[in-house]
Amino acid sequence: MKGLEAFEDVKRAIVVAAHPDDLECCCSGTLLQLIARGVEVFSVNCTLGDIGDSEGRLRRPALAETRLQETESAARVLGLVDTYNLGHHDGELVANLDLRAAIARLYRITQADTLFTFDPYWAGQIHPDHRAAGQAALDAYMPSKMPLYRPEQLREPGAGLGKLQRVFLFSTDRDPDVAVDITAAYPVKLAACMAHASQFPKGEESLTWLKEMDGRGGEPIGVEYAELFKQMNVW
Ligand SMILES: [Zn+2]
Repeated sequence: MKGLEAFEDVKRAIVVAAHPDDLECCCSGTLLQLIARGVEVFSVNCTLGDIGDSEGRLRRPALAETRLQETESAARVLGLVDTYNLGHHDGELVANLDLRAAIARLYRITQADTLFTFDPYWAGQIHPDHRAAGQAALDAYMPSKMPLYRPEQLREPGAGLGKLQRVFLFSTDRDPDVAVDITAAYPVKLAACMAHASQFPKGEESLTWLKEMDGRGGEPIGVEYAELFKQMNVW
């Protein structure tokens, strides 16, 4: 099992998630340690998170606006370089050609060298948006490097062929091979999660499940909290 050294060559990372709060819950303890080392991190949320109100009190446009604002607050806590939202509706994300192209465009614009995303092959992944985001993020990897794929994207300011070289999957139980000790970063991870106040209205009390999950992640390596990843072999 590798630790933080699995990321030693990372200079610029992009995280493709489905909803505002996915990045914060799934991998922010690791990202914080990379950011402290000077790594630039970009966030992509495919959906607006506009059904994420378990009591159904808010209308969807208002909830979407709230969740975009919470995303910005959390990004400031973490020190992300930029955040993107692809504007799809929560609960309806499909890994189609349009989503693939929208994600490839961001690989080309950010010139990221490392991708973090959901493991679309985890059999226990019950959320369709998580599966679709992970699938589309992986599907965009190769085309983003090909000059004849959507060449109009390459004419945008700063854009170039995709530069991704490595992929780390989160939310996986398929023999994760990277476990990062996030214990020291945990208070900031919790603060970033709590910036999503509409999702976690009772603050830390609403995040008991996350502490339990990260605690289980820490057990194999003997630390209080850890985040687990599966590194894909790509070229
Ligand atoms: Zn989610």
